[in-house]
Amino acid sequence: VTAARPPIAPELAPFWAAAARGELLLPQCERCGLHIWYPRPYCPDCASLDIRWVRASGFGHVYSFTIDRRHARDAAAPAEPRVLAYVALEEGPRVVSNIVGADPDSIRIGQRVKAVFEPIDENVGLLRFRAVELSPSISATTAFR
Ligand SMILES: [Zn+2]
Repeated sequence: VTAARPPIAPELAPFWAAAARGELLLPQCERCGLHIWYPRPYCPDCASLDIRWVRASGFGHVYSFTIDRRHARDAAAPAEPRVLAYVALEEGPRVVSNIVGADPDSIRIGQRVKAVFEPIDENVGLLRFRAVELSPSISATTAFR
């Protein structure tokens, strides 16, 4: 099942342009430093209007998730089970997205993930996440931060 092309709001053009290049941008408050998600033209913490786009690391961990198996039981249009997750980005915000490229039953809370972009067309890539191995140097405490 191919995802629908999302409407591109003009104020989110920098996000989508970066996504098409495979880069994750986040809005950041210039006054208090908060990284903001979902994108909006003001800071939800200090109400500043001084917002800039910054490049995110793309790394995060699974904060919570569920496995959608309904479509797998749809006789007319069966689809693979998919993982719907809250991903906590390293920069702080939590993003709702899909974990792709892994057996859904292998996903765990705290699983380290990295942003990937699923191309819809030449101009649009949708933000998804792929499971990555924990580096041996990263403690569980760091991973679950
Ligand atoms: Zn702020």
